[in-house]
Amino acid sequence: MSQEGDQEQSDRKKYEFRKVIEDLKDFDGSGTQLVTIYIPEDRQISDVVQHVTQEHSEAANIKSKQTRTAVQDALTSIKDRLRYYDVYPPENGMVLFSGAVDSGGGRTDMVTKVLESPPQPVESFRYHCDSDFLTEPLEHMLADQGLYGLIVLDRREANVGWLKGKRIEPVKSASSLVPGKQRKGGQSAQRFARLRLEAIDNFYQEVAGMANDLFVAKRHELDGILVGGPSPTKDEFLDGDYLHHEIQDNVIGKFDVAYTDESGLKDLVDNAEEALADAEVMKDKNEMEEFFKELNAGDLATYGFEQTRRNLVMGAVDRLLISEDLRKDVVVYDCAECGNTDYEVLDRRKSTPSHTCSDCGAEVDVTDDDREDAIDHLIEIAEQRGTETKFISTDFEKGEQLYNAFGGFAGILRYSTGV
Ligand SMILES: [Zn+2]
Repeated sequence: MSQEGDQEQSDRKKYEFRKVIEDLKDFDGSGTQLVTIYIPEDRQISDVVQHVTQEHSEAANIKSKQTRTAVQDALTSIKDRLRYYDVYPPENGMVLFSGAVDSGGGRTDMVTKVLESPPQPVESFRYHCDSDFLTEPLEHMLADQGLYGLIVLDRREANVGWLKGKRIEPVKSASSLVPGKQRKGGQSAQRFARLRLEAIDNFYQEVAGMANDLFVAKRHELDGILVGGPSPTKDEFLDGDYLHHEIQDNVIGKFDVAYTDESGLKDLVDNAEEALADAEVMKDKNEMEEFFKELNAGDLATYGFEQTRRNLVMGAVDRLLISEDLRKDVVVYDCAECGNTDYEVLDRRKSTPSHTCSDCGAEVDVTDDDREDAIDHLIEIAEQRGTETKFISTDFEKGEQLYNAFGGFAGILRYSTGV
């Protein structure tokens, strides 16, 4: 699959995960009876089953019969789900949620959810039994966005790596043979200075080489490169054009850091936090700027569910813009009398209303199959037509407008369609 395809897959997956998490957070167990298990991809399923079995027998000691039954039921349900897996969980691991949730009127319902292959790897095994489902680690993974290249260097040492979401991955390090400022006896001062400059230049080239190897191939996915180090090293390095010209422009900031070992990478990310947040929102802002420019003075903007959908079906949408806060269903009314199709976007909690065909006025029968998540509906078409999907945050004015004034759906077109 192409890298762009991967990105869309993960955007869609993130949306699916976000929805499940929102549902789970609404649930409130009465007592400590909601079970959450995070399983990393290298953890054997048989180990997990053993752990669950152990918890099940320990739960026999719970005094309250109601709680005891609820916990044991949850664990049994989890064990049932684990049967579907072979030796290891799917790529990136998985998360299981199970428990008796309050369904109102003093009644409880068993809910079991399995989320496979989160957008980032589950880092460690966690068993959690409490009055809430443990959703925070997943939420962190979903909030995590972006791919940044990291370089920290002084004249003696350098490290390069990645910032993937909130995760720092050191990749390569180098240390230099640059002599200290103190020359040895017998060396001419001039010669010493020249050798030293040469050694520094060589080291910068080596560091740039490591960075280029890593970043150039990924330059289209990169959200930026951060460079850290003491002054004037990082300035010398950047001003000296050591980095490959294709990634020079990706440098979004340079920052002072005290260390240039692996901990320096973390220092760098901490110091760059503001720049990172800006870069994140900046991407969304740029999309919305372009949308508004087209809306006001061009003819490559579309918005609203139906218009956007029609343009999508024609294959005319370059980028589909969806408000991150949107949670809507769409009902598809297919008229049996005249073949006309109407769409109605509804709040997720609203029940499906009755409908008369907008074309012939006949009553249209609907079933549950005619109703689905509106975002899924559009993304599915987008994927078939090679349209990129962008989720737009509501943390800035134009992002908020997408949600409030444009129904949460918009698109930037490849060509004008007049729709
Ligand atoms: Zn009709």
